[in-house]
Amino acid sequence: MVKSLLRNLPSVDELLRDSELVPLYRKFSASIVKDSIRGVLEVLREEVLCGRLKDLSRSTIRALIRADLEGLLRPGLEPVVNASGTVIHTHLGRAPLPDEALEAVRLAAEGPVSLEVDLEDGSRGERDAHCEELIRRLTGCEAACIVNNNAAAVFITLNSLAYGREAVISRGELIEIGGSFRLPEIMERSGCILKEVGTTNRTHLHDYMDAMGENTGLLLKVHRSNYNITGFTKEVHLPELVTLGRRYGVAVVEDLGSGSLVDLSRYGLKKEPVVDESIKEGVDVVTFSADKLLGGPQAGIIAGKKEFVERIRRNPIKRALRVDKLTVSALEATLRLYLNPEGLEERLPILRLLTRPLEEIEKRAWRIKELLSSRLGKRFLIYVEESSSIVGSGALPDCSIPTRVVTITHHEIGAERIFNHFLHSEPPVLGRVERERFVLDARTIDAEHVEHIKPLYHG
Ligand SMILES: *Cc1c(COP(=O)(O)O)cnc(C)c1O
Repeated sequence: MVKSLLRNLPSVDELLRDSELVPLYRKFSASIVKDSIRGVLEVLREEVLCGRLKDLSRSTIRALIRADLEGLLRPGLEPVVNASGTVIHTHLGRAPLPDEALEAVRLAAEGPVSLEVDLEDGSRGERDAHCEELIRRLTGCEAACIVNNNAAAVFITLNSLAYGREAVISRGELIEIGGSFRLPEIMERSGCILKEVGTTNRTHLHDYMDAMGENTGLLLKVHRSNYNITGFTKEVHLPELVTLGRRYGVAVVEDLGSGSLVDLSRYGLKKEPVVDESIKEGVDVVTFSADKLLGGPQAGIIAGKKEFVERIRRNPIKRALRVDKLTVSALEATLRLYLNPEGLEERLPILRLLTRPLEEIEKRAWRIKELLSSRLGKRFLIYVEESSSIVGSGALPDCSIPTRVVTITHHEIGAERIFNHFLHSEPPVLGRVERERFVLDARTIDAEHVEHIKPLYHG
């Protein structure tokens, strides 16, 4: 049985000549088609050998080849409806860009731009200069440079300022963010020596002082971002570290993580550290992400004293971490919005999402409930309830923002399965499972997405 099935499997050459597969050559090169045929035959051979396949009609084989190749034409990066309630969702690409940035990206993508040309005299320009002036005005720093993301910013800062020397850091700040960013590992790879001081919950100024020595390269302060230490705690704040750094002549570096350019409490949110405060307190270098609370494209911003930023800029690794014209254009346009923070919560999508009025969210939730009640049928129980959204990406970890969710349950279908059904619908909808119920958080769902939520099943 198995043998005869294997014998009946057509050869690659036969399939290459199959007249019904000829239309594929209009969209794919001969070698791409051939690879696909090989791949499909290999899978089929294995299925036969495991006894999973009993029938191998030519039409089935053709359909598999077509499906394999057509799959290559579908974009892998698809728009997703964010119903998760995590406003800055790293897995969904973080901050949505403001219109001004979208327009700037389109222009930059379309053709030549003055990325590294000084338009005064045609001489060589600096690609970071476009954003640097804005960052200087917005934060009060002396100089700034831009790299691929904040992890890169931390890496190149340590590598430039403390290679082969000790970076002193409190044990309470040796954080991991989202699995792939673990501070001790980045520090090690940057070539500096990790010098831990204090304990997880308490670190005193004398702990830092005791660690100072011949080989001290810098003092590092890290914003804990995604967790909080409460209770019997003590940490040394930036101004004291700055004083200590001055006394010993070593740089003081702060990784702010999210780094907001405005005090979010003016928009009714909890306060997150503001970059200009660190600059005022005398930090030598501060690093932060451009696509977290700042609301721009993925990038890492390094701001601070000219002397240190220059050393970072001249590091040969900068070439490997530099951003492209699309990022520069989007970042520049986003930063410009901060020149007047009045009404920023209307113009900057990330702030719009974070400050969306509860009445508006509630209205949206009821509209979704109404739509889904007709689309899902009577056997699903659908309610609008109170819940909370989170900021995400390590920003404002203990800040939950009141929201309204649409809860969807079914007495026979579990929450995880409903979650998957929504995820596999067109467009994909990413909700969340909360207390064993599937929920759609109306805060993060855009108005224009509401009508597109079309779950696969009915009944
Ligand atoms: C998020 C974060 C990082 C990493 O930033 P990316 O932009 O994701 O590279 C590093 N440090 C802190 C404190 C953070 O919050």
